[in-house]
Amino acid sequence: MTATVQQTGPDPAAIFTELYGYEPHGVWSAPGRVNLIGEYTDFNDGFVLPLALPHATRAAVSARTDGVLRLHSGDVPGGVVSLRVEELAPHSGHGWAAYPAGVAWALRAAGHPVTGADIALTSTVPTGAGLSSSAALETVTAFALNDLFQLGLSGPELAVVGRRAENDFVGVPCGIMDQMASACCTEGHALHLDTRDLSLRQVPFDPAAQGLTLLVVDTRVKHALGDGAYAERRAGCEEGARLLGIPALRDLPYASLDAALTTLAGAGADESVIRYVRHVVGDNHRVEQVIALLDAGDVRAAGPVLNEGHRSLRDDLRVSCPELDLVVAAANEAGALGARMTGGGFGGSAVVLVEAAAAGAVAEVVTKAFAAAGHAAPGVFAGAPSAGARRLR
Ligand code: ADP
Ligand code: MG
Repeated sequence: MTATVQQTGPDPAAIFTELYGYEPHGVWSAPGRVNLIGEYTDFNDGFVLPLALPHATRAAVSARTDGVLRLHSGDVPGGVVSLRVEELAPHSGHGWAAYPAGVAWALRAAGHPVTGADIALTSTVPTGAGLSSSAALETVTAFALNDLFQLGLSGPELAVVGRRAENDFVGVPCGIMDQMASACCTEGHALHLDTRDLSLRQVPFDPAAQGLTLLVVDTRVKHALGDGAYAERRAGCEEGARLLGIPALRDLPYASLDAALTTLAGAGADESVIRYVRHVVGDNHRVEQVIALLDAGDVRAAGPVLNEGHRSLRDDLRVSCPELDLVVAAANEAGALGARMTGGGFGGSAVVLVEAAAAGAVAEVVTKAFAAAGHAAPGVFAGAPSAGARRLR
């Protein structure tokens, strides 16, 4: 297997010093993530089970007291973006810089005295691959500003700040999973997160110790369809909960699913609403199934649950795409234990659970299947459960 994604990048501190002419006060890191199971559950108050990737966004940062916010990313063309914190306003553009600027805005909007900063970023998280480079960028900024301005906010509180930046400043309607994963995951664990109250548990998950590999396959596809489809799924789920008379689909026990689907049909619900409810309640249940298997040390048995999750996303939620379906089919034919798309779908990445000894062969089969179908080569790497956001120096 060839690791097609670099896990260490250029040193942001060196770039900082070159750009701004002095040494940064510190360097912080925040990872990208994949979600093992529990998709489209986070806006239904449900459960998710993400893990942090070895790939991370690093930020060299110094605080300023004069209201100036200077931002530079080594991953995008263009120089330093210079803004004034008191002039930051939601939906005012700024391209990529809106993500870190949105964090400064969200902190200030919550009453925290953030008076400017110089920031230099580098990242090894592929952007737009469904691996949450946006959350890594928000989270690393939030952690750095929290430390430098001694705000005393916790990981979950900083995740909420990052989500506010993305929802309200950038204008992307994402749930809380990505920022929570980047902020709160720990090495050797998946994060069982209850998105209703943000209670969490670190669930031991160390594929390598069990002779397994969790492959991440980046299809390198991003279908434009994604944004409207997300809003439509979200509205359909809310409609389902309303018709069932519950606050959110999370409140429907799995044992009551069949009866609820009958109720929905009787109430004249659109057939799409019935499919969405079946997916969300099923995936919430699959999170609990996978956690029970991980706790029992029976990681291999999670494979078929991942496959079921993929079928549900493909057939009921209808957020997959031919490339993601091809990864799952080819990997399973090549002997994987199970696979599913991860993240919002319509492109992005899939996870494949495979015996470590077979990982190279499975990666090769998937890559060849892409070539045979005329798709660009996918990115394939091992998603070892890694550390969440932290100060490096
Ligand atoms: P994902 O979070 O799945 O990678 P998104 O579309 O949510 O995809 O976020 C990707 C966007 O986040 C990029 O287009 C860019 O604007 C911003 N971004 C992420 N990482 C970086 C980075 N290291 N430098 C600059 N911008 C970044
Ligand atoms: Mg994102």
